[in-house]
Amino acid sequence: AQERYSATRNAPATTLCGTTIGLQMNAGLMADLPSLESSGAEGVGLFRTELQFLIRNQMPRRSELSALYKRVLDASGDKRVVFRTLDIGSDKVLTYMKPNDEPNPALGWRAIRVGLDKPGVMRMQLQALLRAAAGRNLSVMFPFVAQYSEYIAAKAEMNKAMDRERKLGHPLPAKLEIGAMLETPSLAFAPQAFFEDAEFLSIGGNDLKQFFFAADRENERVRRRYDTLSISFLSFLQGIVTRCEVAGTPLSFCGEDAGRPVEAACFAAIGLRTLSMRPASIGPVKHMLRRVDLNVLRKIIEECHDSGEQSVRAPVMEYLKSVAR
Ligand code: PEP
Ligand code: MG
Repeated sequence: AQERYSATRNAPATTLCGTTIGLQMNAGLMADLPSLESSGAEGVGLFRTELQFLIRNQMPRRSELSALYKRVLDASGDKRVVFRTLDIGSDKVLTYMKPNDEPNPALGWRAIRVGLDKPGVMRMQLQALLRAAAGRNLSVMFPFVAQYSEYIAAKAEMNKAMDRERKLGHPLPAKLEIGAMLETPSLAFAPQAFFEDAEFLSIGGNDLKQFFFAADRENERVRRRYDTLSISFLSFLQGIVTRCEVAGTPLSFCGEDAGRPVEAACFAAIGLRTLSMRPASIGPVKHMLRRVDLNVLRKIIEECHDSGEQSVRAPVMEYLKSVAR
């Protein structure tokens, strides 16, 4: 099936109406990096750093992490890599750093909450990233930020880490970019200052959808009950897109839905311009995007708003069938 897409591997994901969507890949292992070339991804939109913490029964050393991050940057060449700081808790529990029993782990002590409460681990990781990216560009993204103050506190940790490195005489990255994942509904309604302050944002659709519909992403029974293409969720995403446009803040979408061609086409229609997905999805998503007219999709979505349709999926599918080859 991948052969089918090889002809357009180096072609842009440009729609019929002339809009180009940036397609990036999600990664988490050194073994994922060869896909950067083979998939035609423009960069790594999400590098999940938790695996190196999960596969051990003790905290990895800073030097090990730094060496790995350096290899990731080496393998990526000129392509941008967005490193997401440690996202543990909920479904990803470290044996050596367990929260006390939590009745609702998905709503519990996880991700940036752990990072800010136990800053030692976050500082170690930030230092490893700074050292790995000495003289190069570094993009760091904080997971599960639920309010502006958490972003401010995390950014302050990064600034402290930079000061420390400077004092130690270590070379710093040539350019540093700090962003956040938008994966709790609260952050979509943060003060505009947050949207202006963040250098980039990425929608973590897996978590965002779970919290939007109050439906556990791990629970098959409820997970499929709510459509990503429902008018309610699309309107919510549209609001985020608009806030980022007003602030001039680059926005991407890196949850699993970005890798589904029908969903990806609708995301493009509501204004998302960068999607990050597993490498195998890039071909099919590009194939779809190159066949659609976003103006038609926007009109279909608008009509659903007016007619009281719950989801845009059926009419969108009808249109996509007419353009699919
Ligand atoms: C997400 O929540 O959509 C996301 C990309 O992060 P993860 O799946 O690792 O929680
Ligand atoms: Mg998430």
